Amino acid sequence: MIPTFPQVSHHTLYQISTATALVEGIYQGAVRVGTLREHGDLGLGTFEHLDGEMVIVDGQFFQVRSDGLVRECDDDVLSPFAVITRFAPEETVTLAQCPDVSHLTARFDALRPSDNFFFAVRVDGHFDYVHARAMCRTAEGVPLVQAAAVQPEFEFHNVPGTLVGFWTPEYAKTLNVPGYHLHFVSDDRTRGGHLLQCRGTNLRLQIQREGDYHIALPETEDFFKADLRRDPAADLAKAEGEKR
Ligand code: ZN
Repeated sequence: MIPTFPQVSHHTLYQISTATALVEGIYQGAVRVGTLREHGDLGLGTFEHLDGEMVIVDGQFFQVRSDGLVRECDDDVLSPFAVITRFAPEETVTLAQCPDVSHLTARFDALRPSDNFFFAVRVDGHFDYVHARAMCRTAEGVPLVQAAAVQPEFEFHNVPGTLVGFWTPEYAKTLNVPGYHLHFVSDDRTRGGHLLQCRGTNLRLQIQREGDYHIALPETEDFFKADLRRDPAADLAKAEGEKR
């Protein structure tokens, strides 16, 4: 491997707020979509009051709301938590058959040279099946795990689309969602959400290693006062994964 040094320009992961803050119910808007746009073209997040899922593809920002509708966002829309990067993938492979999401993530695992960096990932292709969810508008301070317990879920069949997201190292679990976190939007931009499960054929997988990690902390009243000492890992696994 060729060594790289801090003065070399790295891919930067730019993030608003932390996973713990989200788990603790800190949903006040902290940043405008217009500001997020300056920091990249691929990513994910949520909206003020947990009002749906954010999907950022090719510089377009989409909001998937709990009624399943997808709309493109204006610059003035606010987010309490978002992760974004400028995507210039270092590697592209094709996965002919993808029977489930664990198959997909295992393929990405094989492309990751380390467990100690953040990675941005993108998947394009034909999805035979997608199981997704979108958070409902939720009152400030209601824990994420409670909000997630009543989230509407959607199933899509035979839909071409794109998954975008990130892989986060275990050591960063208080800051971001550890492991893979993926959001989906269909090619026709009518369906999407936080990915729970998928099946697909001829999927194009792309990955990029992130060398810089920039976190902007929300200057909101609730973030100032929040108690963020708790380990969010168990709640995150419950809130972000498939229900058993
Ligand atoms: Zn999500």
